[in-house]
Amino acid sequence: MPVYSRADIQFERGQGAYLFDSEGRRYLDFASGIAVTSLGHCHPVLVAALTEQANKLWHTSNLFRITGQEKLAARLTALTFADTVFFTNSGVEAWECGVKLIRKHFYSKGQPEKNRIVVIEGAFHGRTLGAISASKAEKMVKGFGPLLDGFDQVAFGNLNELRAAITPQTAAINIEPILGEGGIKAATVEYMKALRQIADEFGLLLFFDEIQCGVGRTGKLFAHEWAGVTPDVMCVAKAIGGGFPLGACLATEVAASGMIAGTHGSTYGGNPLAMAVGLASLNVISQPDFLENVQVQGKALHAALEGMVARHPAIFAEVRGVGLMLGLRCAESVVNLDVVNALRHRGMLSVGAAENVIRLLPPLIIGEAEIVEAVRILDNTAAELTAAAATLA
Ligand SMILES: *Cc1c(COP(=O)(O)O)cnc(C)c1O
Repeated sequence: MPVYSRADIQFERGQGAYLFDSEGRRYLDFASGIAVTSLGHCHPVLVAALTEQANKLWHTSNLFRITGQEKLAARLTALTFADTVFFTNSGVEAWECGVKLIRKHFYSKGQPEKNRIVVIEGAFHGRTLGAISASKAEKMVKGFGPLLDGFDQVAFGNLNELRAAITPQTAAINIEPILGEGGIKAATVEYMKALRQIADEFGLLLFFDEIQCGVGRTGKLFAHEWAGVTPDVMCVAKAIGGGFPLGACLATEVAASGMIAGTHGSTYGGNPLAMAVGLASLNVISQPDFLENVQVQGKALHAALEGMVARHPAIFAEVRGVGLMLGLRCAESVVNLDVVNALRHRGMLSVGAAENVIRLLPPLIIGEAEIVEAVRILDNTAAELTAAAATLA
């Protein structure tokens, strides 16, 4: 179905931060498949984990114990606030698991009326009926009604609106600590702390969507760690599979108290292949040295981008983001997707986002050489676009 506006390029292979198309052209991949291939393409540790598992066992169903699930869940719970994990094949399934878990939590406590979730305007949680109902964005929901009830939107960063939206029916607050599709907008530490405090004050569950900002992207294993608060529920996907379809819903024992045998499930969720890759990628990304390096490279890239933006005020207005989850807001007269296309023509991949932002989501393995190359391509592209605009005027 023609639901994507695809660029006319077919990639044949990838190596580290680079992709090669069918004509042999090389591209610097600062999109990472939208924050997925965080260890770059064909990382030897992931290739080894996948091929080793492929020669042993692919699938058994969840009617049996799955060793890889037990191992990956043990790692995830050891590394986070969570006590328990449900594995999925995608981000939105992990998010939906979180929504079901929240509703079931209050149902099991004898408060079935507590089934509404406060969500953030401009947030993105995926494309199922549930997730588009939470987003309410015109381009995602138009023609797909009736939508699912139970989501109340408030503006990002606005605590007065949030407090006013809470009713006796409110069960939870759901937020991306850094809005990805929404334009690389990071919640401040104070806002994150206030969300935890309000959730506690009103007896709500706090539900973070770290599908894009989690798993090392910001230089901490999870973005909420920067604020020193923990959620009760969190959905994770994208980078944890490094390109293999894998998601996870993490929760505290208390939050997940309603999720008993028979209440939820998935045929493929947590299958041995995904678990092998997930364990391997988490083992690499969770190393303190690895995360420290993401912070170092993120700062270097951020600083270099600040300089680049200052050199091209006709094209770029602002650098946003944390770690290697960065965004460039384009100047008002510039269309972000035109910049994404121009960069691609010069051999660099980026991704558009809301608020006229282009997202730079390089693999977390980049170093100085890739940063220098990216900034050179950005400089050249911006100069070319500035000259083209001058000619038109
Ligand atoms: C990508 C994304 C999703 C949806 O993940 P899928 O794997 O496409 O279902 C949900 N939330 C956020 C924040 C995302 O970036």
